[in-house]
Amino acid sequence: IKSQIGIIGLGVMGGNLALNVLSKGFHLSVFNRQVLGKEENVAKNFVETHANKKTSLLGFDHLSPFIDSLETPRTILIMVKSGEAVDAIINEITPLLNANDCVIDGGNSHYKDTIRRELSFDTININFLGVGISGGAEGALNGPSIMPGGSKKGYKQAKKILDAIAAKDINNTPCSAYIGPGGSGHFVKMVHNSIEYGEMQLLAEIYQLLRYVAKKSPEDIATIFENWSTRKKNSYLLEITIKILRKKDNGAYLIDKILDKTGQNGTGNWSAVEGIRAGIPIDTIIASVMARNISSRKEQRVLTSEIYRLDYKIPEVEETFINQLEEAYYVVSIINHSIGFDLLQRISERNSWELNLSEIAQIWTNGCIIRSDLMQTIALLFSEGTYQDLLLFPEIVALMKTNISSLQTSLQSGLLSGFALPVMSGAANYFFAYTTANSSANLIQAQRDFFGAHTYQRIDKSLNDFFHTDWKI
Ligand code: NDP
Repeated sequence: IKSQIGIIGLGVMGGNLALNVLSKGFHLSVFNRQVLGKEENVAKNFVETHANKKTSLLGFDHLSPFIDSLETPRTILIMVKSGEAVDAIINEITPLLNANDCVIDGGNSHYKDTIRRELSFDTININFLGVGISGGAEGALNGPSIMPGGSKKGYKQAKKILDAIAAKDINNTPCSAYIGPGGSGHFVKMVHNSIEYGEMQLLAEIYQLLRYVAKKSPEDIATIFENWSTRKKNSYLLEITIKILRKKDNGAYLIDKILDKTGQNGTGNWSAVEGIRAGIPIDTIIASVMARNISSRKEQRVLTSEIYRLDYKIPEVEETFINQLEEAYYVVSIINHSIGFDLLQRISERNSWELNLSEIAQIWTNGCIIRSDLMQTIALLFSEGTYQDLLLFPEIVALMKTNISSLQTSLQSGLLSGFALPVMSGAANYFFAYTTANSSANLIQAQRDFFGAHTYQRIDKSLNDFFHTDWKI
């Protein structure tokens, strides 16, 4: 039997996706490179462990027989480390392929690499898809959220399998939908990850305030978060945080033993760069990337904390502080999502991708790391008609108006205590700047005109006219 799909790379994601594909009854071929000097044959072991009687499962450590084992036109999913490894695999398989085969890159590739690869495949009539896949190992196994972009023809061919393995939303619709041309699928995944960065950092900041200002134990905080989750604030990230806070190691909380030095796989960084390049305000995204960057300077932080050990007085807080934090948490989360969707919309317009943000919100309601009650609400709001900024929906306006003061007071207590709260501060800065009719940018314009003769517009004159003043006189 020829296989209906082939998967290249049996790492965390590839291995779990392969099991997912098998469980849906597709005949499958898998390939993993055989590294010189390494005894273990990953593909062979995979087949030995997972072969079943219902579907055919073939394993290879050479690409040529792997490609030959696939039904034509072929569907091949590459799940290797992003970057050079993807190009290396593509270079090796390209001579073995035929026109109309479909090659899918399901890793976290940079969307510009995806555009380049698609163009090159296009010249030889091979359909290339750059597909964002979110959900981690568990999602890959049980149903991830899938963001396919690129060749429409390729998508039509792969749709049956992608829909089958994807998570399902509350209406049992697959959390997979064609995103758009070029690198749009990987771009959307990149923005997904940057919203994720913001939400993770937000939870870390709220945890810090509950722990050290409200003086709650990890167990207490887990219970507080559980209460929040019952009030339409549940999310996958909140759920895992609750589990993390309860985890004990030799009788003590494991969280207290983990080094506070964080890494990143690059997608948050990429979003920050893209947002800055396009002149889009993305305060919470930048803040969460910067928070990771500064956390990585552990040794320096230890040193400077000794030099600057200032006696910050942690303010006394009432029990209502916890309610305020709950409201602040929700407000910041809304702002962070609003920023993420705005980034998608503006880059979509620039590239004429015509992204359907309603559909994107829908495929993010399950399977992916940022699935949440809020995402359900957003999907519902966006389904009402043409896209508009999340912060402009009347329901959201009402909520923000009632709750924004809680963000202010939470920030006040946290900053007085000497805690860095980059995402909460970033969200507040974004919100106040965005909702201010008359900002202080008039002074910036005057300064620019002063030293660089950049000119400025006047509010008492036509905006078509530009003025320059000789400021030195
Ligand atoms: P792993 O490190 O678990 O697996 C990487 C796979 O790539 C392995 O099969 C490895 O083979 C193979 N590989 C690495 N370099 C080469 C090469 N030069 N030639 C051929 N094969 C190579 O990674 P993940 O499964 O976690 O990630 C795969 C992709 O999915 C990445 O782009 C990642 O960013 C993305 N992703 C990961 C998620 C996660 O939660 N882990 C979530 C969503 C996307 P070998 O075993 O021989 O080293």
